[in-house]
Amino acid sequence: GVPEVPARQVAPRRRSREIHVGPVAVGGGAPVSVQSMTTTRTSDIGATLQQIAELTASGCQIVRVACPTQDDADALAVIARKSQIPVIADIHFQPKYVFAAIEAGCAAVRVNPGNIKKFDDQIAQIARAAKDHGTPVRIGVNAGSLDRRLLQKYGRATPEALVESALWEASLFEEHDFRDIKISVKHNDPVVMIEAYRRLAEECDYPLHLGVTEAGPAFQGTIKSAVAFGALLSRGIGDTIRVSLSAPPVEEVKVGIQILQSLGLRERRLEIVSCPSCGRAQVDVYRLADEVTAGLDGLEVPLRVAVMGCVVNGPGEAREADLGVASGNGKGQIFVKGEVVRTVPESRIVETLIEEAQRLAERMK
Ligand code: SF4
Repeated sequence: GVPEVPARQVAPRRRSREIHVGPVAVGGGAPVSVQSMTTTRTSDIGATLQQIAELTASGCQIVRVACPTQDDADALAVIARKSQIPVIADIHFQPKYVFAAIEAGCAAVRVNPGNIKKFDDQIAQIARAAKDHGTPVRIGVNAGSLDRRLLQKYGRATPEALVESALWEASLFEEHDFRDIKISVKHNDPVVMIEAYRRLAEECDYPLHLGVTEAGPAFQGTIKSAVAFGALLSRGIGDTIRVSLSAPPVEEVKVGIQILQSLGLRERRLEIVSCPSCGRAQVDVYRLADEVTAGLDGLEVPLRVAVMGCVVNGPGEAREADLGVASGNGKGQIFVKGEVVRTVPESRIVETLIEEAQRLAERMK
């Protein structure tokens, strides 16, 4: 299962209103959750449920599915019922699908104020239906689909424009006494996105869903998301995150979890502390680090393993970690919990570390 207790915190969390997306609490100090979105046709129930199962196995806690057609809307009830994690229906343009998603038992619906002008006169009915079913609404503002009125006012999708769009939409729901809301204000530029969320965090107490939209292919998107989420989460801002990558959604979840672990907002599992190697290295650090990482894959315990190339920082880091090796002269000193337990030839470093890691993991179970 997903560890609930943060190991340590970078900053006090912003106080936000708590909502519930199915059984997952978002806001109100609940652990920051990781979500993703399916890439299958939602109307293909089998394929969508299969992808949701893969996402669930990778640690995804909330999943969003697109709902652009009536066939997709018709599939929601089965998907929502059979999914192991809460399902959010992602709706642009058509209010009728919002009602369908609420009726289908989706854990939440996402609406985009830039695309839902026609919704304005139907907000009262949406608010009533959502309230009756206990279904929260995500107001998801996107730079790429900002309301034309706001584009004219601000010239482009500035942080102010994104925030105004979100708060205006929220106010329409508030008029009907509906506050079961979370908000996102996504932009593809982390600088604009960070500023938008910072302002939004000050101006409301709704929980915030963080995202850099159209972040790009895996390498670039991972960095953009890590930088943007890091800047916000380190100030306590953000209640649930979605990394957007032009890559399979399971990759988004892995990156999201790693970001939370890096900030101490999620308990770390296996962590390899390996040196970058340098002219002093006396072993092939890259190979050692890769082999140890591969050998320990799937070890479900929090373990810090140090793989160090020489005796300069090696013994220090190895001693600080749960387990480590400091190499020198074709040999490796193996540390367990700060003590040297043996010295082995270089050829046996990897197998010895894996053996010791498994022994430690057994003790921790
Ligand atoms: Fe270089 Fe040794 Fe530091 Fe690795 S531990 S980077 S080999 S000085």
